[in-house]
Amino acid sequence: MLCARSDLQVSRLFTDVHEPLPRKPELLGFSFSWELDYANLLQMLADLDLPLRSSQRTAAHPLVFGGGSVLTANPEPFADFFDVILLGDGEGLLDAFITTMQGVRSANRATQLLTLAQIPGLYVPSLYEVRYQTPVGAIATIQPLHPDIPAQVNIQTYRGNTLSASTVVTPKAAWENIYMVEVVRSCPEMCRFCLASYLTLPFRTPDVNQTLIPQIEKGLTVTHRIGLLGASVTQHPEFEELLDFFARPACDQVRLSIASVRTNTVTVKLASLLAQRETRSITIAIESGSERLRQIINKKLENDHIHQAVANAYQGGLKAMKFYGMVGIPGEVEADIEATIDLMQRLKRQVPGLRLTLGCSTFVPKAHTPFQWLGVNPRAKQSLKLMQRRLRSQGIDFRPESYNWSVIQALLARGDRRLSYLLELTRHLASP
Ligand code: SF4
Repeated sequence: MLCARSDLQVSRLFTDVHEPLPRKPELLGFSFSWELDYANLLQMLADLDLPLRSSQRTAAHPLVFGGGSVLTANPEPFADFFDVILLGDGEGLLDAFITTMQGVRSANRATQLLTLAQIPGLYVPSLYEVRYQTPVGAIATIQPLHPDIPAQVNIQTYRGNTLSASTVVTPKAAWENIYMVEVVRSCPEMCRFCLASYLTLPFRTPDVNQTLIPQIEKGLTVTHRIGLLGASVTQHPEFEELLDFFARPACDQVRLSIASVRTNTVTVKLASLLAQRETRSITIAIESGSERLRQIINKKLENDHIHQAVANAYQGGLKAMKFYGMVGIPGEVEADIEATIDLMQRLKRQVPGLRLTLGCSTFVPKAHTPFQWLGVNPRAKQSLKLMQRRLRSQGIDFRPESYNWSVIQALLARGDRRLSYLLELTRHLASP
């Protein structure tokens, strides 16, 4: 989007390689979609010889701005590092930000920040004073420091029909040579822990024939690998038509990758198309083997659906199936952990020929979700160990996520500006 503007020279900066930077960049932006990336962010500022804190930057330094899901969900732990934070979908915000900045380009830094803070969705943390009930207590007030800026900065929502697609396709990308197309944004299921759903509501779906297929055809001119991206891609109302597009002989050489799909959308048709298009595995999020817990989290899924999905995947010719699970869910008791172990073992017996993997995280309360005020359950650590012992011995590939990092994620998901000093101190240690 930034490169598409004729009034801007843009250089891309990655953590490992980057284009040569302009000699005196005026703006430096970060897309921040994973909490623990703060270490990379601070390291990059240091590598560029920039002060880490916005309060230490002067007219000689670029304005440092950021956006993305982490900053939109809770900018506060990182607020002191940014001059400007863009809250919400980038589509509307980036243009408003750059156009406003053009208008005050020659003004002093204070005027620039004050002008930017008046644009909907642009948050200038230094223009808000945070007071606490006690030095270690809850936030008492957050007050704007100038009468012209809003007391509350609202997240901006993009309402257009075109979602994102790759602009860089390269063998050096984390997903090698894949052209990614965003098929849906948000998810209508609204599981009570899920940031991907609540933070980006409403559920948006571009038209398949008018928008998605032309976008995919553009990608096919540079690569034969296509990735369909989104929190729940198979919930696109015209997903069948998209599958028909890929099932044509013209797409015989296409390698298709698909993000996690909703369990009851794993049909034989989907599985066989993926198998024909060189995908060996499909991923579904079951969260737990306990139907009671799934009701607590509002996951509308029954064990029968999971058994059916596994049968369909196998019949369609897939070789492996991956499940996402979670421990430490609010209301969880030991019997629920046993229910997950039992379900996985039954699935293994149902389809011994399918390689089964269970990736398991610990519940982390995220801001803006209904479960935001609930804590991390310390018993989760033991539950992960128990599952590991019982599942690996049955030939099920169990991949737990680190419990300790989940605790840190929870701290970042709900923490405030007082954390910034801790982040600075620990940035060299943050490599999960
Ligand atoms: S189905 Fe998946 S993406 Fe949708 S709300 Fe539930 S956890 Fe989130």
